[in-house]
Amino acid sequence: MIRILIFAALIFIVLIQLHDLRFEPFISEGKINTAIDAMSDKINQDYNGKNPVFLVVLNGAFMVASEIIKRFDGDCEVAFVKLGSYQGTATTGNVDTLLGLNISLQDRYVVIIEDIVDTGITLEEIYRILEKENSTDVRIATLFFKPEAYQKNFRINYIGMEIPNNFIVGYGLDYNGLGRNLTQIYKLKKENMTNLVLFGPPGAGKGTQANFLKDKYKLVHISTGDVFRYNIKNETSLGLHAKSFMDQGQLVPDNVTIEMLGAEVDKNPGANGFIFDGFPRTVAQAEALSELLKEKNTEVAAMIALEVDDEVLVERLLERGKTSGRNDDADEDIIRNRIHVYYEETAILKQFYLKENKYYGVDGVGTISEITERISRVIDSL
Ligand code: AMP
Repeated sequence: MIRILIFAALIFIVLIQLHDLRFEPFISEGKINTAIDAMSDKINQDYNGKNPVFLVVLNGAFMVASEIIKRFDGDCEVAFVKLGSYQGTATTGNVDTLLGLNISLQDRYVVIIEDIVDTGITLEEIYRILEKENSTDVRIATLFFKPEAYQKNFRINYIGMEIPNNFIVGYGLDYNGLGRNLTQIYKLKKENMTNLVLFGPPGAGKGTQANFLKDKYKLVHISTGDVFRYNIKNETSLGLHAKSFMDQGQLVPDNVTIEMLGAEVDKNPGANGFIFDGFPRTVAQAEALSELLKEKNTEVAAMIALEVDDEVLVERLLERGKTSGRNDDADEDIIRNRIHVYYEETAILKQFYLKENKYYGVDGVGTISEITERISRVIDSL
């Protein structure tokens, strides 16, 4: 019994959720403390009797800085700068100075304390700020260093630990403001999600199939057409904006659609995966989807394309129009325009996913269950 409990405790990994993302334990508090002890020993040796200024780079470095400074044996001073370059889980490449230097560093020994050095862009900015200061000596101490991400040449004098290029939180580091208080380091969890793009011209049966597949594979179904129709029905500003395009069978502009899709995905943290139905319809949308999923440490697993002859589509949609109440199903010209828009603007996405080896064509003519069966075979093979 005891053995089973120990085993269960060993495989039980405590995940934490910050906003929409899940993180798993990565570096323990013990390892962090050992690394800080080693850095502090060297700093104590090198700055014996030198009265250095520890320049702490906010916000992330406050925790490691406090530890290094507590361990410093001699006299020292402390100053802060605050810089920012991260948005979500990716660096923007632009560094803003949010709080500048307020003491002179002329003729001083300066030790910059960083929580993490990845691209080195922030460091470059600090060096630019320090250039005018005429300090005696400037060195860098960082708790974490990502050699794979580092793009600059500044020597880093004191490194606590080298780490791979994962997005991490904890011990002062945050994801959109949260996670700084964690006493160990967590990394973004690789999600085992199955994200499917269900593709095909209007009337191909995407919605019908998605309804079966979402139950069978426990996925969240997002139909951009349905979300737009919901907004139109509820007369939201998004709905009013989309209506004029939809009534003509035209695409709603990318910026509106992409933002809406992102919000729908964010409503489902912890999902097993998504069926995207009616999205993406343009290359810009496909790129936005890759980006969005990448931020969540996942990707599109497959584009499953239902292939149906045009005349069958027109017939199906006219039939559906008798009961669906959709303006864009009731008129043959608008139906043909939607099919035309599909070939003009959307069919190109086949190339996009072919290039990534993610395109799977499925014959979309037959009974509903026959087609579900064909799609399931593709999903099961992924
Ligand atoms: P559907 O229900 O997928 O046939 O979509 C109906 C209408 O909603 C389309 O004809 C477009 O006007 C609009 N729509 C749905 N999804 C998108 C999208 N990904 N991009 C732009 N417009 C869309």
